[in-house]
Amino acid sequence: MTDCLFCKMVSGDITPDTVYEDEDVLAFRDINPQAPVHVLVVPKQHVATLNDLDADNSALVGKMMMAAAKIAQQEGFAEQGYRTVMNCNDDGGQTVFHIHLHLLGGRVMHWPPG
Ligand code: 5GP
Ligand code: ZN
Repeated sequence: MTDCLFCKMVSGDITPDTVYEDEDVLAFRDINPQAPVHVLVVPKQHVATLNDLDADNSALVGKMMMAAAKIAQQEGFAEQGYRTVMNCNDDGGQTVFHIHLHLLGGRVMHWPPG
């Protein structure tokens, strides 16, 4: 997807502040952090929204979650705790249409979220 911001980061056209990368996912710091550590974990494969997951690509979500747990260890807040969030479409607050997992840590999170 040439017009997709996160695909451009995966391809290297835009260089994000990368914190983790493997065969399937790229993770980088959010430009507008909502916590002391705010990382976005994206699959290298373009999937627009959670609604577009299917039997062929749903394993990506497990890989994204595992990457988030590794980054939480790396960043030093795995034991204290952290939050992971995926927003879907307008009511969910999704603004970039390439699925991504928000990893938020370094402060106490509240519930319910806004
Ligand atoms: P969404 O609202 O779709 O769940 O999350 C999109 C996230 O992407 C937002 O938290 C926003 O701050 C982040 N974002 C938007 N543009 C950029 C960018 O150019 N670079 C980085 N690192 N993050 C971005
Ligand atoms: Zn994309």
